[in-house]
Amino acid sequence: MTVSLVGAGPGDPGLLTLRGAEVLRLADVVVYDRLVAPALLDLAPADAERVYAGKAPGHNEMSQDEINALLVERGQNGQAVVRLKGGDPFVFGRGGEEAEALAAARVPFEIVPGITSAVGAPAYAGIPVTHRGVSTHLTVVTGHEDPGKGSTDVDWDALAKAGGTLVILMGAGRIGEIADRLVAGGLAPDTPVAAVRNGTRADQRTVRATLATAAGAGVQPPAAIVVGEVARLDLAWFESRPLFGRSVVVTRAREQASELRRRLEALGAEVVEVPSIAIEPVPFAVPDLDRYRWLVFTSATGVGAFFDRGLASAGLDARALAGLQVAAIGPGTAAALADRGVRADLLPERFVAEALLEAFPPASADGERVLLARAAQARDILPAGLSDRGYDVHVLPVYRTVAASPDPAARERVRRGGVDALTFTSSSTVTNLCDVLGDRPAPQPLVVSIGPVTSKTAMERGLRVDVEAAEHTIAGLVDALLNAFRRSRRG
Ligand code: SAH
Repeated sequence: MTVSLVGAGPGDPGLLTLRGAEVLRLADVVVYDRLVAPALLDLAPADAERVYAGKAPGHNEMSQDEINALLVERGQNGQAVVRLKGGDPFVFGRGGEEAEALAAARVPFEIVPGITSAVGAPAYAGIPVTHRGVSTHLTVVTGHEDPGKGSTDVDWDALAKAGGTLVILMGAGRIGEIADRLVAGGLAPDTPVAAVRNGTRADQRTVRATLATAAGAGVQPPAAIVVGEVARLDLAWFESRPLFGRSVVVTRAREQASELRRRLEALGAEVVEVPSIAIEPVPFAVPDLDRYRWLVFTSATGVGAFFDRGLASAGLDARALAGLQVAAIGPGTAAALADRGVRADLLPERFVAEALLEAFPPASADGERVLLARAAQARDILPAGLSDRGYDVHVLPVYRTVAASPDPAARERVRRGGVDALTFTSSSTVTNLCDVLGDRPAPQPLVVSIGPVTSKTAMERGLRVDVEAAEHTIAGLVDALLNAFRRSRRG
């Protein structure tokens, strides 16, 4: 099989190439470096072997020879191997050495280029590395000579004379020395410098200085350091997003978290996933649908379980609903239905059980049947209310929520109040988060709730609810959060 040397890009998982994602999905083994986003490792199959090859406290660093040997061995075993490296594999990534080792052992390999931090980090800081009328060329140079070489390869004098844009990688620790040498080589001391630390990540920071002031500017690794007139440009977009620099906890189950995560990330937030609940299937059989007038769903998860497990295992599809009226509690549920070819006949104006109940027509004949497909634990308000309206209600539990065991580091961070906001999308996320934490987070971050029922549960658990979504949807929750942060910024 092939060994793929894949560039993971500088940090933002969205910067992986399509080819990179494709080989990850098919991987038997992933050998990855420090700073590779966990979201990228998640693309590999759950049972793929994951081998950490980077430096970090508590880990033994693998030597380059050991990494080469591992890639050769796994490749010869016939496994699909992905060597996932930060940025581009051939830009100061030692990918060349790995490819040489594979070529020497006659193991087939491919190179999947990535976005190098030398270009990606400046881009996220709003700095074009070439710019018409400002800079006609780009030089990428290491600021950290290979100590094994013993001699200096980088000709800083020549680089100073070449002008244009210089991007220095691995140079944060020696920036003072480098700046001095560039000035000695003829660059003006007031030449602009921009050091982009943790570029493209939620914790990106850009330090702006000049060659004269760079040494004292607090440049920290890992940074891409831009030297030259383009470093004066500040086409800010990433660091100026409304939630940039804010950490927001998502407590939904992992499989439900993606929409909220996507919306928050698009606004620049750092999303901390602390899934407090997990979705478990419960066994059920779809009853004879001809006997029902209404089919009611109160969550997208319920729709998924009903169609993808219930109907599918009975050899049925959406056509089985032909004679039924279908109700959805809100737009997320309606969208899950639409994905399966069903348009909801009833969608209330507010997305809570009470509103769904109000919107329901009274039963036209006594004992008309309603099938309510939902979680095993849920409030009684719908079945009780529909019975009051003359319906014969059958509750069909199609899934169950159980307490999840989130990543301990993320849980600790929340407990210590080390995040800016907590989002709750249902009462069960509140209850289970409190159970998982064992205690209220102190100091308490901003608490944002999707609606009144969730807020009530949060207050019962001793949390202060700072904002409640006006529209009880994920989009409404995100709007509420955004407004709360805007107010706190002004106040
Ligand atoms: N192959 C990588 C570079 C590896 S050398 C690439 O193409 O990007 C490691 C150096 O890359 C770091 O010392 C730092 O200078 C730079 N770097 C890596 N990730 C970075 C990031 N997210 N932001 C800024 N610089 C980064």
